[in-house]
Amino acid sequence: MSEPLDSQRRRHYLAALGIEEWQPRRAPPLPVSTPAPAVPASAPDATSAWQQLTEEVARCTRCDLYRTRTRPVLGVGDRHAQWLVVGEAPGAEEDRQGEPFVGRAGQLLDAMLRAIGLARGQNVYIANILKSRPPGNRDPAAAEVAACLPYLERQIELIRPRLILAVGRIAMQNLLATQSTLGRMRGQVHEFGGLKTPLIVTYHPAYLLRKPEDKRKAWEDLKFARGVFARLT
Ligand code: SF4
Repeated sequence: MSEPLDSQRRRHYLAALGIEEWQPRRAPPLPVSTPAPAVPASAPDATSAWQQLTEEVARCTRCDLYRTRTRPVLGVGDRHAQWLVVGEAPGAEEDRQGEPFVGRAGQLLDAMLRAIGLARGQNVYIANILKSRPPGNRDPAAAEVAACLPYLERQIELIRPRLILAVGRIAMQNLLATQSTLGRMRGQVHEFGGLKTPLIVTYHPAYLLRKPEDKRKAWEDLKFARGVFARLT
Protein backbone atom coordinates (compact mmCIF):
# COMPACT_ATOMS: atom_id res chain seq x y z
CA MET A 1 0.00 0.00 0.00
CA SER A 2 1.40 3.47 -0.83
CA GLU A 3 2.39 5.85 1.98
CA PRO A 4 -0.31 8.42 2.92
CA LEU A 5 0.31 11.94 1.61
CA ASP A 6 0.52 13.49 5.11
CA SER A 7 3.16 11.01 6.12
CA GLN A 8 5.16 11.68 2.96
CA ARG A 9 4.91 15.40 3.61
CA ARG A 10 6.08 15.07 7.21
CA ARG A 11 9.08 13.01 6.12
CA HIS A 12 9.90 15.69 3.57
CA TYR A 13 9.79 18.46 6.18
CA LEU A 14 11.79 16.48 8.69
CA ALA A 15 14.39 15.95 6.00
CA ALA A 16 14.39 19.72 5.47
CA LEU A 17 15.02 20.12 9.21
CA GLY A 18 17.91 17.73 8.87
CA ILE A 19 16.52 15.10 11.24
CA GLU A 20 15.43 11.52 10.78
CA GLU A 21 11.91 10.48 11.59
CA TRP A 22 11.20 8.06 14.37
CA GLN A 23 8.04 6.56 15.76
CA PRO A 24 6.22 8.98 18.07
CA ARG A 25 5.66 7.82 21.60
CA ARG A 26 2.41 8.21 23.45
CA ALA A 27 1.91 11.90 24.30
CA PRO A 28 2.95 12.63 27.91
CA PRO A 29 0.50 14.22 30.33
CA LEU A 30 0.71 17.98 30.56
CA PRO A 31 3.09 19.06 33.37
CA VAL A 32 0.84 22.03 34.08
CA SER A 33 -2.91 21.98 33.87
CA THR A 34 -3.67 24.91 31.62
CA PRO A 35 -7.30 25.65 30.84
CA ALA A 36 -7.93 27.13 27.43
CA PRO A 37 -8.60 30.87 27.79
CA ALA A 38 -11.89 32.17 26.57
CA VAL A 39 -11.49 33.78 23.18
CA PRO A 40 -13.65 36.88 23.05
CA ALA A 41 -14.98 38.17 19.78
CA SER A 42 -12.64 40.54 17.95
CA ALA A 43 -13.07 44.15 18.93
CA PRO A 44 -14.87 46.07 16.22
CA ASP A 45 -12.02 48.56 16.12
CA ALA A 46 -9.27 45.93 15.79
CA THR A 47 -8.19 47.27 12.42
CA SER A 48 -7.72 50.77 13.75
CA ALA A 49 -5.96 49.39 16.83
CA TRP A 50 -3.46 47.61 14.55
CA GLN A 51 -3.08 50.76 12.50
CA GLN A 52 -2.39 52.80 15.62
CA LEU A 53 0.10 50.24 16.90
CA THR A 54 1.93 50.15 13.55
CA GLU A 55 2.19 53.93 13.49
CA GLU A 56 3.36 54.14 17.11
CA VAL A 57 6.11 51.60 16.51
CA ALA A 58 7.14 53.37 13.29
CA ARG A 59 7.78 56.60 15.16
CA CYS A 60 8.85 55.06 18.47
CA THR A 61 11.76 56.63 20.32
CA ARG A 62 11.23 54.89 23.66
CA CYS A 63 14.74 53.46 23.56
CA ASP A 64 17.90 54.39 21.67
CA LEU A 65 17.57 51.59 19.14
CA TYR A 66 15.46 53.88 16.95
CA ARG A 67 18.65 55.81 16.18
CA THR A 68 20.38 52.90 14.46
CA ARG A 69 17.54 50.86 12.96
CA THR A 70 16.68 51.04 9.27
CA ARG A 71 13.04 50.29 9.93
CA PRO A 72 11.06 48.79 12.82
CA VAL A 73 9.81 45.22 12.49
CA LEU A 74 6.39 44.88 14.09
CA GLY A 75 5.58 41.33 13.00
CA VAL A 76 4.04 39.35 10.20
CA GLY A 77 1.25 36.86 9.71
CA ASP A 78 -2.35 36.09 10.42
CA ARG A 79 -3.79 38.61 12.88
CA HIS A 80 -6.38 36.02 13.92
CA ALA A 81 -3.78 33.29 14.36
CA GLN A 82 -4.04 30.67 17.07
CA TRP A 83 -0.24 30.33 17.18
CA LEU A 84 2.14 33.16 18.04
CA VAL A 85 5.87 32.69 17.52
CA VAL A 86 8.05 35.12 19.48
CA GLY A 87 11.75 35.55 18.84
CA GLU A 88 14.40 37.93 20.10
CA ALA A 89 14.91 40.93 17.81
CA PRO A 90 15.37 41.81 14.14
CA GLY A 91 18.73 40.94 12.60
CA ALA A 92 20.44 42.73 9.72
CA GLU A 93 18.24 41.28 6.99
CA GLU A 94 15.04 41.76 9.00
CA ASP A 95 16.06 45.37 9.63
CA ARG A 96 16.45 45.89 5.87
CA GLN A 97 13.24 44.10 4.86
CA GLY A 98 10.99 45.05 7.77
CA GLU A 99 9.89 41.44 8.31
CA PRO A 100 10.88 39.06 11.14
CA PHE A 101 12.70 35.78 10.51
CA VAL A 102 13.90 36.18 6.94
CA GLY A 103 17.11 34.68 5.56
CA ARG A 104 18.40 31.24 6.54
CA ALA A 105 17.02 31.34 10.08
CA GLY A 106 13.64 32.31 8.66
CA GLN A 107 13.73 29.43 6.21
CA LEU A 108 14.49 27.03 9.03
CA LEU A 109 11.67 28.48 11.13
CA ASP A 110 9.31 27.98 8.18
CA ALA A 111 10.48 24.35 7.90
CA MET A 112 9.95 23.87 11.65
CA LEU A 113 6.42 25.25 11.35
CA ARG A 114 5.62 23.12 8.31
CA ALA A 115 6.82 20.03 10.18
CA ILE A 116 3.86 20.49 12.53
CA GLY A 117 1.40 21.44 9.80
CA LEU A 118 1.70 25.23 10.01
CA ALA A 119 2.67 27.80 7.40
CA ARG A 120 3.83 31.38 7.73
CA GLY A 121 0.82 33.63 7.41
CA GLN A 122 -1.71 30.84 7.97
CA ASN A 123 -2.84 30.59 11.58
CA VAL A 124 0.59 31.81 12.71
CA TYR A 125 1.75 35.29 13.63
CA ILE A 126 5.49 35.91 14.04
CA ALA A 127 6.95 38.71 16.16
CA ASN A 128 9.95 39.58 18.30
CA ILE A 129 10.49 40.93 21.79
CA LEU A 130 12.24 43.99 20.30
CA LYS A 131 10.91 45.79 17.25
CA SER A 132 14.21 47.49 16.38
CA ARG A 133 17.54 45.85 15.67
CA PRO A 134 20.24 46.01 18.34
CA PRO A 135 23.51 47.06 16.63
CA GLY A 136 25.75 44.13 15.83
CA ASN A 137 22.98 41.73 16.90
CA ARG A 138 23.98 42.10 20.55
CA ASP A 139 21.60 40.82 23.23
CA PRO A 140 18.79 43.24 24.08
CA ALA A 141 19.42 45.40 27.15
CA ALA A 142 16.94 45.11 30.01
CA ALA A 143 15.84 48.74 29.52
CA GLU A 144 15.19 48.11 25.83
CA VAL A 145 13.04 45.09 26.62
CA ALA A 146 11.13 47.04 29.26
CA ALA A 147 10.51 49.82 26.74
CA CYS A 148 9.41 47.54 23.92
CA LEU A 149 7.53 44.70 25.61
CA PRO A 150 4.26 46.68 25.88
CA TYR A 151 4.04 46.57 22.06
CA LEU A 152 4.19 42.78 22.07
CA GLU A 153 1.64 42.71 24.88
CA ARG A 154 -0.70 44.82 22.75
CA GLN A 155 -0.17 42.45 19.83
CA ILE A 156 -1.12 39.54 22.08
CA GLU A 157 -4.22 41.40 23.26
CA LEU A 158 -5.26 41.90 19.65
CA ILE A 159 -4.37 38.46 18.30
CA ARG A 160 -5.41 36.44 21.36
CA PRO A 161 -3.35 33.41 20.31
CA ARG A 162 -4.14 30.09 21.92
CA LEU A 163 -0.47 29.15 22.18
CA ILE A 164 2.80 31.09 22.24
CA LEU A 165 5.96 29.44 21.00
CA ALA A 166 8.96 31.32 22.41
CA VAL A 167 12.03 30.60 20.31
CA GLY A 168 15.42 31.09 21.89
CA ARG A 169 16.79 31.90 25.32
CA ILE A 170 16.29 35.66 25.08
CA ALA A 171 12.60 35.41 24.20
CA MET A 172 12.06 32.74 26.85
CA GLN A 173 13.85 34.64 29.63
CA ASN A 174 12.07 37.90 28.93
CA LEU A 175 8.59 36.48 28.44
CA LEU A 176 8.83 34.33 31.55
CA ALA A 177 10.88 36.81 33.61
CA THR A 178 13.43 34.17 34.50
CA GLN A 179 17.18 33.67 34.29
CA SER A 180 16.73 29.93 33.90
CA THR A 181 18.28 28.13 30.95
CA LEU A 182 16.27 27.15 27.93
CA GLY A 183 17.14 23.51 28.56
CA ARG A 184 15.41 23.64 31.97
CA MET A 185 12.28 25.34 30.61
CA ARG A 186 11.66 22.98 27.68
CA GLY A 187 8.95 20.35 27.81
CA GLN A 188 6.62 22.32 30.09
CA VAL A 189 3.57 24.49 29.58
CA HIS A 190 4.23 27.96 30.98
CA GLU A 191 1.86 30.92 30.95
CA PHE A 192 2.27 34.46 29.71
CA GLY A 193 0.57 37.67 30.80
CA GLY A 194 -2.84 38.50 32.15
CA LEU A 195 -4.54 36.28 29.61
CA LYS A 196 -2.45 33.36 30.91
CA THR A 197 -1.71 32.30 27.38
CA PRO A 198 -0.02 28.87 27.35
CA LEU A 199 3.62 29.25 26.35
CA ILE A 200 6.11 26.62 25.21
CA VAL A 201 9.80 27.19 24.56
CA THR A 202 12.19 25.84 21.98
CA TYR A 203 15.47 26.71 20.33
CA HIS A 204 15.98 29.70 18.05
CA PRO A 205 16.49 28.65 14.41
CA ALA A 206 19.67 30.77 14.20
CA TYR A 207 21.06 28.71 17.11
CA LEU A 208 20.02 25.49 15.38
CA LEU A 209 21.92 26.56 12.28
CA ARG A 210 25.03 26.83 14.47
CA LYS A 211 24.24 23.66 16.47
CA PRO A 212 22.35 21.29 14.17
CA GLU A 213 22.80 18.44 16.67
CA ASP A 214 20.06 20.13 18.75
CA LYS A 215 17.50 19.97 15.93
CA ARG A 216 16.22 16.70 17.32
CA LYS A 217 15.42 18.40 20.63
CA ALA A 218 13.67 21.18 18.72
CA TRP A 219 11.59 18.56 16.94
CA GLU A 220 10.63 17.08 20.33
CA ASP A 221 9.55 20.57 21.45
CA LEU A 222 7.49 21.08 18.31
CA LYS A 223 5.71 17.75 18.75
CA PHE A 224 5.08 18.64 22.38
CA ALA A 225 3.64 22.02 21.33
CA ARG A 226 1.44 20.39 18.70
CA GLY A 227 0.13 17.92 21.28
CA VAL A 228 -0.60 20.66 23.81
CA PHE A 229 -2.34 22.75 21.17
CA ALA A 230 -4.48 19.77 20.13
CA ARG A 231 -5.63 19.41 23.71
CA LEU A 232 -6.49 23.12 23.97
CA THR A 233 -8.90 23.04 21.04
S1 SF4 B 1 13.13 48.63 20.19
FE1 SF4 B 1 10.99 49.01 20.70
S2 SF4 B 1 11.06 50.59 22.31
FE2 SF4 B 1 13.06 50.62 21.26
S3 SF4 B 1 12.82 52.17 19.63
FE3 SF4 B 1 12.32 50.16 18.73
S4 SF4 B 1 10.09 50.02 18.90
FE4 SF4 B 1 10.77 51.62 20.33
